[in-house]
Amino acid sequence: MPKKPEEIIREEVRAAASYHVPDASGMVKLDAMENPYRLPEDVRGQIGAIVAHAEVNRYPDAGASRLKARLRATFGIPGDMGLILGNGSDEIIQMLMLATARPGAVALGLEPSFVMFKLIAAYCGTRFVGVSLGPDFSLDADRMVAALEEHEPAIVFIAYPNNPTGNLFDGGAIDRILRAASGLVVIDEAYHAFAGRTYLTRLADYPNMLVMRTLSKSGLAGLRLGLLIGRREWLEQVDKVRLPYNVGVLTQLVAEQALQHHLMLDEQAAAIKTERTRLYDELARTPGATPFPSDANFILFKTKAAERVFTGLKQRGILVKNLHGAHPALEQCLRVTVGTPEENDRFMHALRAALA
Ligand SMILES: *Cc1c(COP(=O)(O)O)cnc(C)c1O
Repeated sequence: MPKKPEEIIREEVRAAASYHVPDASGMVKLDAMENPYRLPEDVRGQIGAIVAHAEVNRYPDAGASRLKARLRATFGIPGDMGLILGNGSDEIIQMLMLATARPGAVALGLEPSFVMFKLIAAYCGTRFVGVSLGPDFSLDADRMVAALEEHEPAIVFIAYPNNPTGNLFDGGAIDRILRAASGLVVIDEAYHAFAGRTYLTRLADYPNMLVMRTLSKSGLAGLRLGLLIGRREWLEQVDKVRLPYNVGVLTQLVAEQALQHHLMLDEQAAAIKTERTRLYDELARTPGATPFPSDANFILFKTKAAERVFTGLKQRGILVKNLHGAHPALEQCLRVTVGTPEENDRFMHALRAALA
């Protein structure tokens, strides 16, 4: 007798909701923190030539040594620190969770924050404890330190800046957590390009700290490339759960070529930051919308009726993220990615109409 899914599939998997990606065809896509700017024509031409010569009949370089050297130089990764690449930083979170999922292990995170920390913990059978952010989405260090003492988590995740709130946490509060934690502390710097602040330069100070980065938010989301940086004694272990060829031939080649133009990517990030300021000011001036300050490439804002505004925007061809219902602190909140000046204008125009 063939068994049914409920007899075979693990309970935590069946209980989980699948990660829903909405259909965005024909829409102004402001829901997923992508960089709205494409690579320039000449760079795309160079990439085309490189791809034409790629040896896709061969497995990729399992250690991605050329790409890693390029990443080390571009991001100023300290030479004595290890580096692991993932198929996006999502895959790195999965590696970390797989490697730390001992029986009874706890993962600690903040709420509201990036949902994948909690989802992947559940898939790996690790109990996730979420500590609520304080008012204004600040990091409540006292509450975090108490949770560290109570649960002794194997791993702690801190998104810096945080998603979906957009703020950078206070450095003093993070330092207290780093000093109090006995397990790993992962600083997720997915939005580093828009924030400028980093813990990469502090790796020598904290033996159990790891720093995670991604190329997704700064122009290469389609490639899927994430980075984990930290002491070699930790990364040697995490690397064992990485599948041998997790970063493909084309991703390695294209990322390496695109990073030769990282100054151009930095300019795009600077343009997005300028637009972030303008968009924030416009939202702040709009009756019925209250934006929260952001150090990332998106803005969280509160409305009087998120569901209605979300639908109104969608009917006008604008896709944002509706966070109402995701967490009590996000009641009536929407999140908009900063787009091109034209996209932001279209968004503001549609928002005013949807609020009316
Ligand atoms: C988008 C995001 C990621 C995931 O990025 P990928 O590299 O595309 O998997 C990780 N952390 C945070 C906080 C994010 O917002």
